[in-house]
Amino acid sequence: MPPTQMASQAGLVEENLQAYWMPFTPNRQFKADPRILVSAEGMYYRSADGRKILDGVAGLWCVNAGHGRRAIAERMQAEMARLDYAPSFNFTHPAAIELAGRLAAMSPRGLNRVFFTNSGSESVDTALKIALAYHRARGHGERQRLIGRERAYHGVGFGGLSVGGLGNNRKAFGPLLAGAGHLPHTLDLEHNAFSRGSPAWGAHLADALERLATLHDASTIAAVIVEPVAGAGGVLPPPQGYLRRLREICDRHGILLIFDEVITGFGRLGEAFAADFFGVTPDIMTLAKGLTNAAVPMGAVLVRQEVHDAFMQGPPDSVELFHGYTCSGHPLACAAGLATLDIYRDEQLFQRAAATAPHFEQALHSLRGEPHVVDIRNQGLLGAIELEPAPDGRNRAAEVAMRCYRKGLMVRGLATNVIALSPPLIIEKSEIGELRDTLADALRDLA
Ligand code: PLP
Repeated sequence: MPPTQMASQAGLVEENLQAYWMPFTPNRQFKADPRILVSAEGMYYRSADGRKILDGVAGLWCVNAGHGRRAIAERMQAEMARLDYAPSFNFTHPAAIELAGRLAAMSPRGLNRVFFTNSGSESVDTALKIALAYHRARGHGERQRLIGRERAYHGVGFGGLSVGGLGNNRKAFGPLLAGAGHLPHTLDLEHNAFSRGSPAWGAHLADALERLATLHDASTIAAVIVEPVAGAGGVLPPPQGYLRRLREICDRHGILLIFDEVITGFGRLGEAFAADFFGVTPDIMTLAKGLTNAAVPMGAVLVRQEVHDAFMQGPPDSVELFHGYTCSGHPLACAAGLATLDIYRDEQLFQRAAATAPHFEQALHSLRGEPHVVDIRNQGLLGAIELEPAPDGRNRAAEVAMRCYRKGLMVRGLATNVIALSPPLIIEKSEIGELRDTLADALRDLA
């Protein structure tokens, strides 16, 4: 459909569309053929041209409880009618206190102190700052290096970019934070293609941290941050034993371990957090996305009590951490968070995801042998199909994603020729079948 017609269908004006500079989007291509979503319910979006679109990615890996949740909207409305805003510095409000308590109670062992933010990027930068300030508070201000990993995505703040490992996201923005280092990523198709869940090969890649600790001296390293399952870098499940090995090396050298659970949190792997799923507890954990079912922006950083308590010194009227956001713990976001946690609990969505995961795995791996498919990976309700790069450098995954959209399915085509899948946890078997068949069609179309 021509753009003007599409825009007018959605009650929009072409000029307004041009005014909107869209994030992480080829703006000129998009505006020539816009994809406009006008409503959503359950597993489906509805587009401006009246089509139903199956949501294979939970929006942007975030609408874990599915779309159009009345209970979330109603709680947000009630909170807004009562309290539109309370300052987050020196004041707070009941919903923020309650949500902090709920998160502390459900988090992995000992991560019982909660700092609110408004996005995953802010959570990551907050976590990195807490790590640096923690060491300083304990008299180890020389621990200033932050270690990330190749192919990691930790949002778009300067901290997250510095430890992130996606070249396109970094290259335009200068040298970033001094002293950031990177572990190697864990994907090696020679050794771990078509693994189901965590690949058997690759735990030794964690030993690169030991090498960095030798190179820089461990006493200069503040923290290591990893996504337990790398998401936007291509959905890379950690090799078996890899996270445990990282934990051991961190412990040996007094390095803080940060899990960025912005995607893996809130049931994506069939447990509340990836830390639970893998049985490895970090010192700090970053959250966002599924925290409010993405009904409103919110993030949080959960911290081990010991890390928090290191800050609680000096005169009691002194600020312990010079950090925070105007809208940290905003009433609207806290209301959404509380209602979302209720849904996860009452509908047992994490358990449901765990029960659905084997079926999802089976369906994805049945696409082996379709044109251009060189790898299929999955963990919980995260999945990826990697395609052979096109000889002319075209991103085949982006093309497949576009074809899927025309056929009524939303998936993500990542820059690395990977089609990413991350459906809402409420997905039914029949919808997994629809997703699989549409993908197969789109892959064959491309051949
Ligand atoms: N960390 C991870 C692991 C993510 O996947 C993302 C977003 O996809 C972020 C951080 C950044 O979150 P936001 O886009 O809310 O800033």
